[in-house]
Amino acid sequence: MIITIDGPAGSGKSTVARELAARLGIAYLDTGAMYRAVALAAMERNVDFSDHRALCEVARSIRIELDCGPKHTCVLVDGRDVSEAIRTLEVSAMTSRVAAVEGVREQLITLQREIGAKLGSFVAEGRDQGSVVFPKADMRFVLEASLEERARRRRREYQAGGQASDADSVTDNLQARDSVDARQWEPLLASGDAVIVDTTNLSVQQVVDCMIDRLGLADDDRLASR
Ligand code: C5P
Repeated sequence: MIITIDGPAGSGKSTVARELAARLGIAYLDTGAMYRAVALAAMERNVDFSDHRALCEVARSIRIELDCGPKHTCVLVDGRDVSEAIRTLEVSAMTSRVAAVEGVREQLITLQREIGAKLGSFVAEGRDQGSVVFPKADMRFVLEASLEERARRRRREYQAGGQASDADSVTDNLQARDSVDARQWEPLLASGDAVIVDTTNLSVQQVVDCMIDRLGLADDDRLASR
């Protein structure tokens, strides 16, 4: 079973994708972590982010490994654990710039399909998973939420991780990323092939229940897969 979840930052994708994968007993493929890994590696190498060839070269030269357990994502770059280092506000800001480079996308899409082929069944989460990477997925979801709610959620995450963040910079970061990222899932909305879930007023549990209902899984199936 292949399920894709796309949508903007802060729409709840990661939490929901992880929870859905855990309840179905299948892997969780966090594709944002891969773009973040390339951005971090480029920052550490002092690469000029307007130099697209240099960014492609970074993507080509590093080895990204993901541990796709349903409960966590462990990200290794050339064997080094960068799971936490890729989550800072600075890396978030640079990642959209890396993700806008076609050559970087091509390399990561190839890697995502290779990982997907090995996993067999998984929940893939990102921006282009249903539109580009796994268009034949069994079910393709797009999550949405208001900008205010998304900013609230992101600030809570930063606080929980002990990172300082002010409301304006979090909102600015979300808006800047939206303007670049949205083109990835817009074709999926336009084709009418996605199930759209507005998570603004829903708990994680409610969103996952809604998805499981849409997947048409009976309660017995759900219990069996826990
Ligand atoms: O989901 P996450 O916030 O970790 O993604 C970080 C960034 O990576 C996004 O803002 C987006 O620019 C990029 N991304 C992408 N395509 C994906 C996953 C993430 O362009 N499939």
